Amino acid sequence: MSKVLVVEDDPVVQAALVHALTDLGHVVLAVGTAVAALREAGTAELDLVILDLGLPDLDGVSALRMLRGVSNVPVIVATARGAEASVVSTLNAGADDYIVKPFSSEHLAARINALLRRTGGAAPASADIVSLGDLRIDLAQRSATLGGAAIALSRREFDLLTYLAQRPGRVISRRELFQAVWGNPYVGDDKTIDVHASWLRRKLGETAAHPRYLHTVRGVGFKLAAPE
Ligand code: CA
Repeated sequence: MSKVLVVEDDPVVQAALVHALTDLGHVVLAVGTAVAALREAGTAELDLVILDLGLPDLDGVSALRMLRGVSNVPVIVATARGAEASVVSTLNAGADDYIVKPFSSEHLAARINALLRRTGGAAPASADIVSLGDLRIDLAQRSATLGGAAIALSRREFDLLTYLAQRPGRVISRRELFQAVWGNPYVGDDKTIDVHASWLRRKLGETAAHPRYLHTVRGVGFKLAAPE
């Protein structure tokens, strides 16, 4: 039995999904907006999210990025027939699988079972690996590779890279980074983060003028994103 969050704004489709999932023995929560989904994902212990890509408040890619900012829960995106092109960008943004509407409950059950088997339900087996584009971070080994080649990182650089990579596409403030990576309160004029970011950037083989992964957001902080 797994706890599944259904994010679907169409009340008929939502009711059908809740019914099918309940029949399959899951505990089901249902919401109709991305904002409500983010709230649930931030508080409830979920095993799986089924996310409609056509929500009224946020596009699917933004919703997924924000969801990935708060949770590593496995996500199946549900897309309308003919909109399969958008699936690629949602898979890149962190979706685990997709399903094209309309789908049968048997088809959905098969996808869910396969995904839960792969991720081990509540505790994803892949939680030790963070990957973004060609970048791969092994949290257990505290090692990172780019395009298969090892990157030699100091402890701080590794922690900085990991913190950003676990929140792909999100702009992280210097204040947040200083607290999370250095464990210190931010005093405002410290250049520590900028120095480490520039070292990290060099090791990623890029420059501030031509960033690929690590982007400086002037006056705010940094974000890590897969190259376009
Ligand atoms: Ca919809």
